[in-house]
Amino acid sequence: MKKYNFNAGPSMLPREVIENTAKQILDFNGTGLSLMEISHRAKYFQPVVDEAEALIKELLDIPQGYSVIFLGGGASLQFMQIPANFLLKKAGYLNTGTWAKKAMKEAKHFGEVVEVASSAEDGYMHLPHNFDIPADLDYLHVCTNNTIYGTEYRKDLDSPVPLIGDMSSDIMSRPVDVSKYTAIYAGAQKNMAMAGVTVIIVKDELLGQAPRELPTMLDYRTHVEKGSMFNTPPVVPIYSLLETMRWVKAQGGVKEMDRRAQERAKILYDEIDRNKLFRGTVAAEDRSVMNLCFVMNDEYKELESKFFDFATERGMVGIKGHRSVGGFRASCYNAQTIEGVNALVKAMKDFEKTI
Ligand SMILES: *Cc1c(COP(=O)(O)O)cnc(C)c1O
Repeated sequence: MKKYNFNAGPSMLPREVIENTAKQILDFNGTGLSLMEISHRAKYFQPVVDEAEALIKELLDIPQGYSVIFLGGGASLQFMQIPANFLLKKAGYLNTGTWAKKAMKEAKHFGEVVEVASSAEDGYMHLPHNFDIPADLDYLHVCTNNTIYGTEYRKDLDSPVPLIGDMSSDIMSRPVDVSKYTAIYAGAQKNMAMAGVTVIIVKDELLGQAPRELPTMLDYRTHVEKGSMFNTPPVVPIYSLLETMRWVKAQGGVKEMDRRAQERAKILYDEIDRNKLFRGTVAAEDRSVMNLCFVMNDEYKELESKFFDFATERGMVGIKGHRSVGGFRASCYNAQTIEGVNALVKAMKDFEKTI
């Protein structure tokens, strides 16, 4: 049976990305060696890093003065590496969910942290809007897409201070005004690559200003200066990232990714709103087009596991909601297809008919 992958991360990748990466694992560029067993310093691997970096710059239209680096440690390491490098005195955080809160916790190791706005009291079921941003912050940290709760800032915020974006789960799904940001980071396993690499975009002129001694590995300058080759980078994940960036470009770039995301989300949210069994969990204006969360309406609550089994039998994978929300979550990253979304919608309609 055909499987439709709605996993939240690691998540679905374009089939050709997986096939091309698999080929290189068997024989890297005709060298007779596997991608898994070559030196990262080999002259034939450098072009992979260079092209991946160049494609990210091109696709996101990154202005001069920014560097793109590839590190290990996931977005979770960035929760502390960002403030280590950019928190001089005081930083602001928007508390919009689990990941944003974790980022805020780590920043407190490095200086004063202001919670500029929060939707915690309402269980993160909407985004904070209309808040004042103090002008004396070093940066405002925003988790642009809240993977667990299914809310998303689909536009770059207007802010008197530079932004830092955790874009782990929506990077490359829309055009971004990078000039508003001091840094953007993303664990690549949601929308860019297999797990194991983190993409960080940093503004060069703001590096090296933090009033603290940084261990070598924590200082972004180390990795900028060495082109992500200070130590052994995650070679295979970076290769899969390159393949995904080639795919995004060939499909028409981030504008086209945005168009597809909106199209998929409309189909699924329309059904969530129409179907008497289901309802969305977050404020309609804040709905994520990447992670679509929904639950059974109160009067049908006891049917939840029945619908889960029903959908699973029809090929759906990974639709269980995060344990802190319950219900269902359909993650629709760049590689998700209209066919996949239609299959889920059909399962919802067919299940409704059985009630
Ligand atoms: C998944 C995720 C993270 C954590 O990423 P890791 O790479 O596992 O550390 C952080 N932020 C957001 C928004 C995420 O979706």
